[in-house]
Amino acid sequence: MNVYDSDKMADVLRQSHGFELTKNAEEANLLLVNTCSIREKAQEKVFSQLGRWKLLKDGNPELLIGVGGCVASQEGSKIMDRAPYVDMVFGPQTLHRLPKMYDDAIHSNESSIDISFPKVEKFDTFPKVQDADPSAFVSIMEGCSKICSFCVVPKTRGYEVSREPDQIINEIKDLAKKGVREINLLGQNVNAYRSKNKIGEKLKLADLINLVSNINGIDRIRFTTSHPLQFTDDLIEVYRNPKLANYLHLPVQSGSNRILKLMRRKYKVERYIDRIEKLRIVRPDISISSDFIVGFPGETQKDFEETLKLVDDIGFDQSFSFIYSPRPNTTAAEMEDNVPYEVKLERLQLLQSKINKNAKKISDTMINTTQEVLVEKHSKKDMNQLTGRTENNRWVNFDGPISLIGEFVNIKITEALANSLRGRVFETN
Ligand code: SAH
Repeated sequence: MNVYDSDKMADVLRQSHGFELTKNAEEANLLLVNTCSIREKAQEKVFSQLGRWKLLKDGNPELLIGVGGCVASQEGSKIMDRAPYVDMVFGPQTLHRLPKMYDDAIHSNESSIDISFPKVEKFDTFPKVQDADPSAFVSIMEGCSKICSFCVVPKTRGYEVSREPDQIINEIKDLAKKGVREINLLGQNVNAYRSKNKIGEKLKLADLINLVSNINGIDRIRFTTSHPLQFTDDLIEVYRNPKLANYLHLPVQSGSNRILKLMRRKYKVERYIDRIEKLRIVRPDISISSDFIVGFPGETQKDFEETLKLVDDIGFDQSFSFIYSPRPNTTAAEMEDNVPYEVKLERLQLLQSKINKNAKKISDTMINTTQEVLVEKHSKKDMNQLTGRTENNRWVNFDGPISLIGEFVNIKITEALANSLRGRVFETN
């Protein structure tokens, strides 16, 4: 979501002021940091970045510095208490007002702050993108109304708000014209998408996926992230649509019902397993990934072992796991936490090594199979190689002509490494 938001910041400033991005901070007129406050570590990085930029501003008084995103939303004017040289503070829902904030900041000695939640207003003002990569994010909803006890998102991005379907479809049609082949529908909780079409019929995420799949040129669809509570039967059914990638990221957080209750996730492990079993009837070989929080306040060894068991039972693919981080204004931050940090760290390492082993096993079974890969760019390490993603979200590196970028290509997998695959072109579609 932050990648998408950062692109939009660049788009609005390009349109209003003709600004271009530079890789060199020293030649910039404006430095923006788009921040994340999901865990404390991400938040702390903001202030060290600002400290480095202050030195640039000392040498160039014309330079403006802005802080956007969830730390801005959470801290507001307190950002200036710690970093008084910051000129602009804006939240995830007000980034479209950047051009005006920039003008205000230039003409005044006062810092300009706008961290309000004007619903979906910002989507009405975004300019069309100039050029796009073969795979693009498109935001369909924002915010979250689930109020999990550990999570800061409802406070920083606000409650769930869905975009108009026509606006989403038009944005995707425009992207398709610019060569985009894969769309990742984005939101904090995309399966809470609720809207209506022109004739007043209700639309949910499954309907939207079917509409997107009818757009010429769009051949692969993903969505990120969804919540197990609203992973309803219609979403399982929509996996019959072949354009929907054979992959699902569905964060479970814990395998212990006791912890899930303390987290206020509002589902039990049994419900999660039931959803996956039903989905596997439609897509037997689907790849399932998840997010996990370890060391939630009061997590016992038994709770943790239930999480490990769930990893085996589901056979999770590449997943994300984090040590619980207390966040401001959340109820979990008030809970007594008697789990020592070393124990949390040990649990994290155990969980990660289990997940990584599972993922490697899945990668190994892909050797000698042919995978459909959307070729996205040159490989990072070797300019003579191309790279793209399989349906189950693995990067594959292979030799091939640059003309393949933006195409779906069948790749025979030859080798499975820890974080990527290698292969060779089998045939182009
Ligand atoms: N909407 C998704 C969450 C997306 S945030 C959901 O409800 O499942 C991405 C991940 O960050 C979460 O899934 C969770 O695993 C992690 N996370 C969120 N808050 C956290 C916290 N306070 N401490 C540690 N990890 C956290």
